[in-house]
Amino acid sequence: MSFVVAIDGPAGTGKGTVTKIVSEKLNLIYIDTGAMYRAVTVKALNNSIQPEEIDKIEEILRDISIIIKRKDDKQQILLDGEDVTEKIRTPEVDNLVSRYAAIKQVREKMTALQREMKREGNIIMEGRDIGTVVFPDADVKIYLDATIEERAKRRYKQNIEKGINCNYEEVLQSLKERHILETTRKIAPLKQAEDAVYLDSTNLSIEEVVKKIIEIIKMGVSK
Ligand code: C5P
Repeated sequence: MSFVVAIDGPAGTGKGTVTKIVSEKLNLIYIDTGAMYRAVTVKALNNSIQPEEIDKIEEILRDISIIIKRKDDKQQILLDGEDVTEKIRTPEVDNLVSRYAAIKQVREKMTALQREMKREGNIIMEGRDIGTVVFPDADVKIYLDATIEERAKRRYKQNIEKGINCNYEEVLQSLKERHILETTRKIAPLKQAEDAVYLDSTNLSIEEVVKKIIEIIKMGVSK
């Protein structure tokens, strides 16, 4: 029997980084669901489709292929066979992804694809609605949080390291807007599942968060 670890929380909590490290240490398959919503956004932008054009969105979803591959120790995202690993991380996609992710048809399709991934083995899946909607019966659920200022600081640093030109105030503003959209949307809003363990990473290092998550998983799985 395979088991599921669900990690949810807002952007900039270090969720991606720590989930990846935990997956390697515990030999779990790491699934970054945000990358999937980002890939849908890239496909919509490539086809000049606005979030309001539901018919056209349905059309591009029909035959969409999103593959998450491990290449060396990096994650590679293939959208309809094309490598979009870099494209999904641009500030343009950052600003627009929440609008496409709020669409019912997009969420239904991504949720179905994510549920299928359980067949691949023991998984650790991170996103916004994994413990609440995708896998409400996950074996372990963690809600990772941090203050908005700390999250903006981390995201800004990450962008600069990647050579993406930005300023702190813009990053903070974009995160605030995304947070409102994500927590107030009708379908699958970002919220802590009642049975999730709450973990505040504001004053913790990556190593400390990794250690705590591993402890929580070991306790949860041995229950
Ligand atoms: O985690 P990341 O910031 O890459 O996610 C990109 C966007 O995808 C989020 O801002 C959110 O709008 C959407 N998302 C979602 N549900 C998930 C994962 C991500 O709506 N499970």
